[in-house]
Amino acid sequence: MATKHSVFDLSVRDLVNRPGEMREERISAPAPEQFGEALVAVKEGSAIDLDVRLESVHEGILVTAEVDATADGECGRCLIELAVPVQVEFQELFGYHGGEAIEYEVQDDHVDLEPLIRDAVVLALPFQPVCRPDCPGLDPETGVRLADHPELVTPEHSDPRWAALAGFQASEDNGPDSMSGADQQREER
Ligand SMILES: [Zn+2]
Repeated sequence: MATKHSVFDLSVRDLVNRPGEMREERISAPAPEQFGEALVAVKEGSAIDLDVRLESVHEGILVTAEVDATADGECGRCLIELAVPVQVEFQELFGYHGGEAIEYEVQDDHVDLEPLIRDAVVLALPFQPVCRPDCPGLDPETGVRLADHPELVTPEHSDPRWAALAGFQASEDNGPDSMSGADQQREER
């Protein structure tokens, strides 16, 4: 029987039907599968640290947990490998009897936290991970990682908004009677 439960499927036999009782546990275990599909994800086998408080209430077991993990992947701009710490908390009531308001149920005197851990971690993963906030990315022509070659970085690389602003200022300098932008571009070529 015991082997069928995952390490995050916790026994609460000592708490069932004992409102007011409370227990804390700390569990460290490898992720049973990859969490997340984005540029960075918590890989299968990487360490998951779980601090959990299990409280017996009248309706069931109230679970409060903090998850620490590390997501691995690559920078969305320069593709260098990076590791992103993930720290996330959740709270959920596991009811003794399922119902419309109860999504999770105490089953077989256990509360299975694995789906909750996975959902919390996936939601916490950065959508556009970067190795540093101002990562200039790759040179569009050579593919060189610009963070390694600061001398190659132009304002256009570091922030497209600056490039737009520079263009705006240039056209201001030409005064109100200057040609349209399209005409200017044609002349520059
Ligand atoms: Zn980067």
